[in-house]
Amino acid sequence: MKSKFNITSLVRESVRNLKPYSSARDEYVSDGSAMIFLDANENPFENGVNRYPDPYQRRLKGVLAQQKHTSEKNILLGNGSDEVLDLIFRAFCEPNEDNVITLPPTYGMYKVLAGINAVENREVLLTKDFEPNVAEILNNVGDKTKLIFICSPNNPTGNAFSKEKIQQLLEAFDGLVVIDEAYIDFCQKESWLNSLNKYHNLVVTQTLSKAYGMAGIRLGICYASEEIITVLNKIKPPYNVNQLTQQRAMDCLLNQARVQDEVEIILEERNSLIEVLQTLDFVEETYNTDANFVLVRMDDANRRYQEFLDQHVVVRNRSGQPLCENTLRFTVGTPEENKKLKAILKEMK
Ligand SMILES: *Cc1c(COP(=O)(O)O)cnc(C)c1O
Repeated sequence: MKSKFNITSLVRESVRNLKPYSSARDEYVSDGSAMIFLDANENPFENGVNRYPDPYQRRLKGVLAQQKHTSEKNILLGNGSDEVLDLIFRAFCEPNEDNVITLPPTYGMYKVLAGINAVENREVLLTKDFEPNVAEILNNVGDKTKLIFICSPNNPTGNAFSKEKIQQLLEAFDGLVVIDEAYIDFCQKESWLNSLNKYHNLVVTQTLSKAYGMAGIRLGICYASEEIITVLNKIKPPYNVNQLTQQRAMDCLLNQARVQDEVEIILEERNSLIEVLQTLDFVEETYNTDANFVLVRMDDANRRYQEFLDQHVVVRNRSGQPLCENTLRFTVGTPEENKKLKAILKEMK
């Protein structure tokens, strides 16, 4: 294992030496005065989107920094968290040389991104109670291990991992620990965002795609040390978050009450769905969840999946994932949708 966390030695050589593309809007930053912009070959006739967007999304980051009690310097925004995760691979993992550790059953994108970037993906299964196997993870860490991906609350199992286990990894591993908190807004446990100052190797990703109800605009958020954010800013496409997304995200962030109300309803509906699931003979286990979905072990997941489809309900069959034989994952819908789902469940034999 590497002796000490060092951001410079962690970054790929090509990235370390890179002089980033400088866009017109990098060189000139508006101070709010009325200016004539003849620097970016845009069409000058106003239509709301004729200008390039702010490459650093300063207003949006300002609001996020304030709401999350952090600094704009600790934030990078991307075209969904999928782009953020890809940037992390590209900044830190040398193709055909470095490796990462992921913890199946988990979010499928880590493996896909490892494949795209030609980075070895060392898979260390969760334990039977869906917790990270810390000893086995550390056994798999080598000189070339750059990243460990931790999804908490985890997709598809639904549970948030124990704080102690994540802490052990943050303390023992000298590469980056990336904690994917896509579902954190449904979860009672504290976000790891509040530990950024304590762990220099911590990266937290969040998204507007789930609780915030904005999957369509594609906005992913990365929180990390200023050093890490500086590296990611160097390699990101200059205009990776478009103007419409920045505007809609801003409106959304400034209306927290709507998000809170919806999360509350979703959690109530989730709990009433779980109550019904637990009464059914063909349901073998309903797993604990800290998210807006629930993983359920069925008598025969393939058969039940088809039966739901026949009733015009699409669920996710996770049976192909390790430790998830015969499981279906149910996302919680609106109260009306949930009522229909519960009625269908009760009719099933
Ligand atoms: C849905 C999900 C995301 C969201 O990705 P976006 O690109 O931001 O939409 C990220 N991580 C996990 C684990 C998810 O389930």
